[in-house]
Amino acid sequence: MSGLQHHDFSDSPARCVECQALAAGPCARCEAPLCGDCCVIVRGGSRPWAVCPRCARQRGDSLGGGWRTVLGWIAGPLVALLLAVLALAWLTDRAGP
Ligand SMILES: [Zn+2]
Ligand SMILES: [Zn+2]
Repeated sequence: MSGLQHHDFSDSPARCVECQALAAGPCARCEAPLCGDCCVIVRGGSRPWAVCPRCARQRGDSLGGGWRTVLGWIAGPLVALLLAVLALAWLTDRAGP
């Protein structure tokens, strides 16, 4: 899954600002061309954004690549579930005699 917006670079093929490979799409923040390998996925509200490493560092909310992203996807719902169970237990306690 990639948050890159695919643009048509037909008249001037854009090169990735990081590694000079053929760009897959622009950074969601500064619109610098990026290839699929160099884009960094960050949380931007309800959906993840693909930004360049520089923008990711500026924001300081990078999920990183690989295992950190996967860990975030697993840990997020788990924490939400845990909170829901705790809230339910708390409500059940209060409702009891
Ligand atoms: Zn690149
Ligand atoms: Zn950027």
